[in-house]
Amino acid sequence: MPLDLVTIEHSPLSEILTKPAQVVTFPLSTEDKLLIEQMQDLLLKLKGVGLAAPQVGVTKQIIMINIQEDAIALRKDAVNIVPLTVFINPQYIPLADAKIVYDWEGCFSVVQTTGKVPRYDKIQLNAYTPEGKKISSIIEGFTARVLQHEIDHINGFLITHRLTPDCLQGHPDKMLAIRYRELNHAQKEIVKKIIHEREKVTNPNDKAQVQALNNMKKFLYDDN
Ligand SMILES: [Zn+2]
Repeated sequence: MPLDLVTIEHSPLSEILTKPAQVVTFPLSTEDKLLIEQMQDLLLKLKGVGLAAPQVGVTKQIIMINIQEDAIALRKDAVNIVPLTVFINPQYIPLADAKIVYDWEGCFSVVQTTGKVPRYDKIQLNAYTPEGKKISSIIEGFTARVLQHEIDHINGFLITHRLTPDCLQGHPDKMLAIRYRELNHAQKEIVKKIIHEREKVTNPNDKAQVQALNNMKKFLYDDN
């Protein structure tokens, strides 16, 4: 069965988004492996940069990130492409010299709000691969932001918990227009190109794909 996204506003299962998720044991069960495969398919379809198991209604400490050319082009602190990578039982700690930086974040689980979320610019990530190998590394910039967002999900925190009253925030329709105006000419051209390319490959019968494309179009055409 295809996975469904849980949203804080609309899902009967929404309390799963605000509870800590359970630790995963190794070796992974067949069920966990299937969940990971389905989450990977969904994240690729949605063209998102990250996804956590509670967002599909499963209270397990499984997250994944996927940072591609679009993010590199549109984010000033995104430098490296990160292929689709799965992390099990992930945790982070800010480095001693980490600074707080604000940047746009949206969330598949939060329909009504987007904004400039404060995050650490440098973290130590501790996690496991799906094979059970321990990972411990220093992560910076946009990748660190995405990891903090996804690890928040397994701890029961959403962007609405991180957005303080001083943060620029609001309904995505309004915020996307502001966000688009912040881009330089070259970045706006990239957004247009991405949308045209996606229009060609979007399957009109696939709800998730159509939704992802419409979100991007909104980003472009609210600029007036
Ligand atoms: Zn999210």
